[in-house]
Amino acid sequence: MINESVIGELQKIVGRENVLTTTENLKTYSYDGTSSWIHDPDVVVFPKTAEQISGIMKLANAHKIPVTPRGGGTNVSGGSVPVMGGIVLCTTKMDRILNIDKENFTATVESGVVLMNLNTRLAAEGLFFPPDPQSFLAATIGGIVAENAGGPAGVKYGVTKQYLLGLEVVLPTGEIINLGGRTVKNVVGYDLTMLFCSSEGTLGIITKAELKVNALPPARKTVLAIYDDVATAGENVSLVLTSGVTPGKIELLDNWVIRRIEEVSPLGLPQDADAVLIFEVDGMAEAVEKEAEKIVEVARGHGAIEVRPAKDQDEANRYWMARRAGFAMIFGKAPTVLAEDVTVPRGKIPHLIRKCRELAKKYDLEIVVLGHAGDGNLHPSVLTDIKNKEHFARAEKAVEEIIETALELGGVLSGEHGIGLEKQRFFRRALGSTVTDLMKNIKALIDPNNIMNPGKIWD
Ligand SMILES: Cc1cc2nc3c(=O)[nH]c(=O)nc-3n(C[C@H](O)[C@H](O)[C@H](O)COP(=O)(O)OP(=O)(O)OC[C@H]3O[C@@H](n4cnc5c(N)ncnc54)[C@H](O)[C@@H]3O)c2cc1C
Repeated sequence: MINESVIGELQKIVGRENVLTTTENLKTYSYDGTSSWIHDPDVVVFPKTAEQISGIMKLANAHKIPVTPRGGGTNVSGGSVPVMGGIVLCTTKMDRILNIDKENFTATVESGVVLMNLNTRLAAEGLFFPPDPQSFLAATIGGIVAENAGGPAGVKYGVTKQYLLGLEVVLPTGEIINLGGRTVKNVVGYDLTMLFCSSEGTLGIITKAELKVNALPPARKTVLAIYDDVATAGENVSLVLTSGVTPGKIELLDNWVIRRIEEVSPLGLPQDADAVLIFEVDGMAEAVEKEAEKIVEVARGHGAIEVRPAKDQDEANRYWMARRAGFAMIFGKAPTVLAEDVTVPRGKIPHLIRKCRELAKKYDLEIVVLGHAGDGNLHPSVLTDIKNKEHFARAEKAVEEIIETALELGGVLSGEHGIGLEKQRFFRRALGSTVTDLMKNIKALIDPNNIMNPGKIWD
């Protein structure tokens, strides 16, 4: 428990109105996008400047109080749950877009800026920030950098780290440091900017980011391909990519998600399909037409039972709305969802999908598959109930086998959601003791009192 005098110090640093301590308020900041983790903080603070954060960190470090950074709280790995209590430091009041440099294709933003707000401002300048986590209505730049978030556009544009040029960070000991810069190329010593990217709030508080942005492509086209076998859909991903077309997005929805979407909010998806792939190509209009034609040709020639190029933007929007709704549909259907985030080499997608189907039968579970098929990042999601011990144990076994399969196929534990609490029990096994201990030693160097988001990533 944090004592009254520390609360008083926090109020002096950020003002009384920016410190929350009531039970109801603490509950609000006790959970994130996961459905199995919850823990109340002792206090929630909303700083507005890096200097205030520096003051908070010095105070926390002196008293060895855990500090859990939080942006939108949308992560799905338990990252912003304050498992050791202490301070939740929420950045949502640091939401200024400080500069958009059209000539340099960069944006300078505070870490609490919500992605949707950034892209709305950028669009007015004919620009966009390509990484597109589907939580863009609430996810903040700090959370996006700390998770190295991706999204459907990863297949062509990559993930956050490809757009991160520089950072301002407050260290656990209170120093404010600047890393990287505003140039596309920068080889000056160790790349510490990247160390903080995907650090999941365990090394410091990101207060400002210098981001690379792109010009908005003038044209886009969506194609829906329908399959009677989800593994054929998986095979089509590689076939399209080897045909010479790199779509902006290739997303997969399986039959369970399709039926659930049509049940809740009909959007015109084929309910009898085993799976659909939704492709988007973007770029110059002529190229976009040709690329869409090529996708139609490849899919028709390799097992798609129907291929629908969207006739207009309305139809395209419906398909993308279905994709965006996918996660909410899954989470709304079961008390607990174990949403996996394994990523495999792209040619191995059909193997992973087949394994998920086998495991669903073996453990008598609903395992739903959707995700960013274009970059090998699938989200097999196991529907369960943490309160039903026997069912939950079967679900956990299935998850273990999904992870084992992904690793055997040459994949990784997480493509974009991070480790947090959700996958920490697999971490040492996936990376080995030498690498795990090296990472822990780096953390100990930067955070000697282990106050930054303790209890995360490794056990
Ligand atoms: C419906 C839905 C769809 C999603 N789709 C995607 C997707 O397509 N791709 C994807 O990658 N993710 C996706 N996510 C996961 C999530 O939105 C991302 O991880 C996002 O980056 C989290 O941002 P946030 O601001 O909500 O961060 P939070 O959830 O608040 O925090 C995430 C982590 O970052 C740390 N953190 C937050 N702010 C800071 C800071 N300023 N400094 C240091 N550390 C910080 C926290 O401690 C925590 O460990 C989805 C989530 C939902 C609920």
